[in-house]
Amino acid sequence: GTGCLVSGSPAVTRAFKKVLGETDIEAKVMPGVKTTGCQGFCSRGPLVTIMPQGIFYERVSPKDVEDIVEQTVKNGKPVERLLYKDVNTGEPLQTMDEIPFYNLQTRNVLKNIGTIDPTDIYDYIAVGGYQALAKALTTMTPEQVLEEVEKSGIRGRGGAGFPAGRKWRGAVQAKERKNQPLYVVVNGDEGDPGAFMDGSVMEGDPHAVLEGLILGAYAMGSEKGYMYVRAEYPLAIQHLEMAMAAARELGLLGDNILNTGFCFDAQINRGAGAFVCGESTALFTSIEGKAGEPRPKYVRSVEEGLWGCPTVLNNVETWANIPKIIDKGAEWYASIGSPNNTGTKVFSLVGKVNNVGLVEVPLGTSLSTIIEDIGGGIPGGGEFKAVQTGGPSGGCIPYKHKDAPVDYDSLTKLGSMMGSGGMIVMDKRDCVVDVARYFLKFLEEESCGKCNPCRLGLTRMREILDDFSKGCGSEQDIEDLMSLATSIQDGALCALGTSAPNPVLTTLHFFKDEYLAHIKDQK
Ligand code: SF4
Repeated sequence: GTGCLVSGSPAVTRAFKKVLGETDIEAKVMPGVKTTGCQGFCSRGPLVTIMPQGIFYERVSPKDVEDIVEQTVKNGKPVERLLYKDVNTGEPLQTMDEIPFYNLQTRNVLKNIGTIDPTDIYDYIAVGGYQALAKALTTMTPEQVLEEVEKSGIRGRGGAGFPAGRKWRGAVQAKERKNQPLYVVVNGDEGDPGAFMDGSVMEGDPHAVLEGLILGAYAMGSEKGYMYVRAEYPLAIQHLEMAMAAARELGLLGDNILNTGFCFDAQINRGAGAFVCGESTALFTSIEGKAGEPRPKYVRSVEEGLWGCPTVLNNVETWANIPKIIDKGAEWYASIGSPNNTGTKVFSLVGKVNNVGLVEVPLGTSLSTIIEDIGGGIPGGGEFKAVQTGGPSGGCIPYKHKDAPVDYDSLTKLGSMMGSGGMIVMDKRDCVVDVARYFLKFLEEESCGKCNPCRLGLTRMREILDDFSKGCGSEQDIEDLMSLATSIQDGALCALGTSAPNPVLTTLHFFKDEYLAHIKDQK
């Protein structure tokens, strides 16, 4: 994955190939090196796992490779200095199964990532890939596939949490009523600061996304799909392109898929780095070849999406869940999480936390389990101050709500949201006024400027927060922030604007004292 590439994994891979190529070990199985997608522990790369023992090494450099081959590959003994150390006891832990960061997770979407070679379709097939597609096309009608997705209760993993099955049903009904083509679209335009879930899924398990898309197309009678991926994810784009080419070659994509008469093909559209293009109407406008600006949503996109036709847009993680639902059944999926929040969710856990990386847990898992048990708490110990969920448009949740279940409804009740799964942990050194200002500035810069409440309102809010940061805020400014926030929420055209005040509103709600302290400092 990109994280390990940045920290030097290609040199480690080359070193392994060189040393293993020269070695004279008499192994029962020919030793070899497999490059995989992200193994999840992003801050500790390059990561190396020695199979079949599962011995896990972090921060490996090329100079460590000879020791690993000599001690572990030849003699089955770990190289202690490269093992993960428990954050509380300092005790070295050998395998992923022993490390809380991994063994407290429920890895469903992330299961193959870090295990299979994402550039090899046969590696995906060997772990059950395309089994769901074969099952659906040969034993299920499109209606049965759609019913299975409805019964699973899966809600869209991209933000608002709208039930995916209900969205699909609405699109099918619109297609029949309007007698128009239906398009299926992958939203891979993940642009939130600190979020890298979808990028890692596309890089590490691209066939799962593609298989989910083909299954959706079959269920809804679509012949054309689009994968809208931000251009800043070159590895994801490369792996998706390779996945589509390999699938076409094996008759899994294109005309007459698996000789069943079903025809469907997909293409990749690169986003040009605009955060607003993650919004559905802006994304459609961009695919249509126009400037990626939102348009009024008088009619839902399941009725009028791409080129005015019924369109189903789901994010990467939602599509990657579909093969598992069809393969293992809706009941299995619905048994994970809670009744209105089924399944697992992937989070990118970042900020002031010991274990930075990708985390997948059942919906309803508490914040403290994610941050303190899986994440290992904050460096230096003690309480975290707050956690920002839902990306730049989400909200800051204070430590006192650490036992809150992380699901769509609970986060909304706390004034935040799930978003696509970014989770930024803060400690007592972080100033929440600065944090709110940072997110607001990001959204101000990413605003397309089409409507006044967002264009002018966010700028004015940011100017007020600038004043607070300089210690010249006033109590009247707090009133103005609240009033501007309400106007923007009520009047902005798209979700970027309507949700942009969230970080300010939640920090004002939970940390008003800090805003007041900035005023006091001035006095
Ligand atoms: Fe553009 Fe902001 Fe209006 Fe959305 S709310 S259309 S991003 S100006």
